[in-house]
Amino acid sequence: MTVDMKDYLKEPKKLSLDDRLYLVTRNLSKKSHIEVDQAKFKKDPLKSVLTICPAKVYEEHEENGECKVNFENRLECGTCQVAGREYVKWKNPDSGFGMSLKNG
Ligand code: SF4
Repeated sequence: MTVDMKDYLKEPKKLSLDDRLYLVTRNLSKKSHIEVDQAKFKKDPLKSVLTICPAKVYEEHEENGECKVNFENRLECGTCQVAGREYVKWKNPDSGFGMSLKNG
């Protein structure tokens, strides 16, 4: 789906997460820049990375309770480095890979 920025800026519209993520360009590496210590994740009663990440990178697997990492959605905001600091190992993407914002 495409988002016309001129139209978007005229009047406030509520964009879906997919629409908002479309506004970000990513040069994706096949290798994740995020690792999760699954044992520590499972022991965390809050599991705040599941709700605090604006790009919904983290999902809890329904069957085994492990944390799935959808790193291709990333926004590189750094929030999970605080919220999940005990079990999320985050590093900058390799040189030449990462995200940039479209239209500004
Ligand atoms: S850096 Fe931000 S966008 Fe990327 S996984 Fe962490 S919370 Fe989500």
